[in-house]
Amino acid sequence: MIHNTIKHLPKVHRLTLLGVCALLVIILLSPTDDAKASKLANAVVLEPGVAYELPMPAFHNASSSDAQAFEPDDYITHKVARGDTLAKILSKHGQSARVTYNITQAGDDAKRLRKIKTGDNLYLQINEAGQLTSLQYPLNNTQTLVIKQSDEGFLSKIDTKQVETSLAFAQGTIDSSFWNAGIEAGLTDNKIMQLAGIFGWDIDFAQEIREGDSFNMAYEAHYVDGEFVGYGDIVAAEFINQGDVFTAIQYTDGNYYTPDGRSMRKSFLRAPVSFTHVSSNFNPRRFHPVQKRIKPHRGVDYVAPVGTPVMAAGDGKVVRAAYDRFNGHHVFIQHGERYQTKYLHFKSRAVKVGEWVKQGQVIGYLGSTGMVTGAHLHYEFLVNGVHRNPRTVELPEARPIDKAEKDKFMLIADQQVALLNNNKRIMLAMN
Ligand SMILES: [Zn+2]
Repeated sequence: MIHNTIKHLPKVHRLTLLGVCALLVIILLSPTDDAKASKLANAVVLEPGVAYELPMPAFHNASSSDAQAFEPDDYITHKVARGDTLAKILSKHGQSARVTYNITQAGDDAKRLRKIKTGDNLYLQINEAGQLTSLQYPLNNTQTLVIKQSDEGFLSKIDTKQVETSLAFAQGTIDSSFWNAGIEAGLTDNKIMQLAGIFGWDIDFAQEIREGDSFNMAYEAHYVDGEFVGYGDIVAAEFINQGDVFTAIQYTDGNYYTPDGRSMRKSFLRAPVSFTHVSSNFNPRRFHPVQKRIKPHRGVDYVAPVGTPVMAAGDGKVVRAAYDRFNGHHVFIQHGERYQTKYLHFKSRAVKVGEWVKQGQVIGYLGSTGMVTGAHLHYEFLVNGVHRNPRTVELPEARPIDKAEKDKFMLIADQQVALLNNNKRIMLAMN
């Protein structure tokens, strides 16, 4: 029952949903009638956009045009095959070269037909006399090229549909891996990566995720004519990592901030490799790549396949990019006066000494060069020349929310935090 709800959600605006949730808070907080409250909670679950922890349809790419929201009635559908041209297609449906020519002369918009793509659909309306009366070509989820026969010949225009946005919710608790928990919560690959990206400055998703960690998020779902066409941004999210609660709220500038207006973005990423590559999420100490240590081990090791891209943890200047028999291919980056990061045992380096690098830029590929027994990245974080644990060191933050925007932001943040908390209560009520 609920499976189908998501696909046939009627249009709803976020404000309506906020209203519903605000109402729900009042209902759920009212202790007088538990049975009534849970009944209402269930009723609300069937409301638009509230897609609780359910396997969502696998629209992996929100912007992909293969989600065909558009299928007009009384039209013949022609799926564009490799090598198809407009002339070939129309001829197949009994139209003369003259008709093809007239269609291409139907105005500027008709030029879009020169670039029809394999796999796209063309819709043809042909009357009883066999004459083409209309042609429609969806350009994406919201725009359709429409060509119609009129008294003055064929005319073209582009129809644009209104996109309705509502909120979807997802919640998960990690028992095997973050990725699996995301999939179980109905998230697409993109949404899992985006969620990790939002918290990537606070949480080391490669090694510090533990059983019992959890997340709770609200994100946009887009509809055209009541049909789901794709997901939008994550608007609010909470991640609990080893008991620490991190909350991120998206502001109108597209960036994420803590509920009190500090930037989620920081000068350093917690992990210089994507968690999707790291093999052991739960037991980092199981693997000891360096059996005979030449010096005390003062960094963090990330075990991942050879060739895994390694990123600069922060903006900075490459002060060393070299090979030696202990460290193998290695890169050191200086970040301002105080900070330095070191990356060892690369298979190959992707930067040169003196080069300026951006946070997240690939600086090399994980390998097993130097004094190691297995492929891994050895990562060191130094503050004023002293080794610090990159997982726990306090890192400098990016600019907080603008003072002039603070009040407006706080209003949004309060609403979004309430929304996340509602979602939690609803989940509890459902269990
Ligand atoms: Zn190491």
